[in-house]
Amino acid sequence: MGNINEITDNPALAGDGVAGGEGREESEGDEGFATRQLHAGYDAPRHLDSSSVPIYATAGYDLHNAARGSRAANGLEPGAHLYSRVGNPTPEVLEGRLASLDGGIAAVAFSSGMAAISSTILNLADHGGRIVSTRDLYGGTFDFINNLLPALGVGVDYVDTVDDEQQLEAAIGPDTRLVFLESVSNPTTRITDLDLVARVAHRHGVAVVVDNTLPTPYLFRPIEHGADIVVYSTTKAINGHGNAVGGAVVDAGKLDYGPDNHVDDEERSTQGSVKPRYPQFNSFVHNISDEAHGQRRSFVDAYGRKAFIQRLRLKYLRLLGAEPGPFESYLTLQGLETLDVRLDRAVSNTLTVARFLDAHPHVTRVDYAGLPNSPDHALAERDYPRGVGTVLAFTLEGGVEQANAFIDATQVFTYLTNIGDSKSLIVDPARTTHREFNADQQRAIGVEPTTIRLSIGLEDSRDLIADLERGFQAAYGQA
Ligand SMILES: *Cc1c(COP(=O)(O)O)cnc(C)c1O
Repeated sequence: MGNINEITDNPALAGDGVAGGEGREESEGDEGFATRQLHAGYDAPRHLDSSSVPIYATAGYDLHNAARGSRAANGLEPGAHLYSRVGNPTPEVLEGRLASLDGGIAAVAFSSGMAAISSTILNLADHGGRIVSTRDLYGGTFDFINNLLPALGVGVDYVDTVDDEQQLEAAIGPDTRLVFLESVSNPTTRITDLDLVARVAHRHGVAVVVDNTLPTPYLFRPIEHGADIVVYSTTKAINGHGNAVGGAVVDAGKLDYGPDNHVDDEERSTQGSVKPRYPQFNSFVHNISDEAHGQRRSFVDAYGRKAFIQRLRLKYLRLLGAEPGPFESYLTLQGLETLDVRLDRAVSNTLTVARFLDAHPHVTRVDYAGLPNSPDHALAERDYPRGVGTVLAFTLEGGVEQANAFIDATQVFTYLTNIGDSKSLIVDPARTTHREFNADQQRAIGVEPTTIRLSIGLEDSRDLIADLERGFQAAYGQA
């Protein structure tokens, strides 16, 4: 039992009395990315010296005695684990590792990228907020923002070009809580000047939320460019093997909660004019307070600059219940160990494929910001020195028949709606991943009926080119 106590009582492992992955604070020093992707967030002696992160297959945790149980349930027992829907040591290692790789102060892992994205947006926008968003989004994210969010009472203001200062400035209003964008868009790999977006949003005290799924923290670290919150589908390149669905949210710890640290509910009603941008972080919350001792706390009172991430865990992870499983978290951690070597190889393959397609007579357009003729190439050179990622889109001459013949003829590429796998994947976004968009919306983000998306893996590049030749052959006959 003694050793088990050490595990469950470990404050560094579990955060501020409420289980939570720690980033920078746990991996101090200047270790490089490759070292941190293998070690950050994990301390073997606290896990019976296991070299591989253990899979904690447990729903609950021994609370030991009534007094400790009561403190733990109130979030007052440092490091205590209560129940795996709120925190489990396996996903907590993943949280610590991702927070470290992104340069955040803490992270929360979810069971999917969509859970991470929807929970983040709601955590910032609930209690009467609106959001500003681009339309150039992953299909599921667009469906959530465009169709579900308004039905839940959160307004959406779209911008066509989020890094156009005037457009963004005009879209931000008094109720705007966040600006949402993808660092590299899916499938056309458009890139945003995040430094500019952050400068404009922060002038108004508005959070910037970036979906960094495509580049991963190896190719791009949004926090270094002003992002407040970074969201991931870990299903993609972070896992890299296509064997587990997952998501994560990393908090930079720089959110502007407003000047008013603690406005009590009653005070607010008498003050009338006081309206902090994020009332949900500044008002009294029963289950983090100790009312028996006259202590009434808000998330900002209780957790300071971790208010966002703790509320995300205590309200959204705990109450909507999209917690990551320990098995999936283990697979994700294993994939993450080789992120940099996988991406270096896959980015090099992607450039080879992009150049081949760009020179092909039956291709009308290649969308890949890594190509010198891309309109985003200058920005890519500035902000993505290691490459923009392993996804690209290209558009074929002809109609849907050509696209279908092309896809059906490939043998090395798997026809599959995922990205970031070590195996190369092919898909027709208009009829699969971007079905949530109508034809006009698809065209606006560069998706035509004959657009094909590739996610490039680790195969020999000449075999990938030969496979694409097979596709052209089937679609157009002898070239
Ligand atoms: C896949 C994906 C998501 C959704 O993630 P899931 O893990 O499938 O829920 C969100 N954003 C981007 C950019 C994605 O590629």
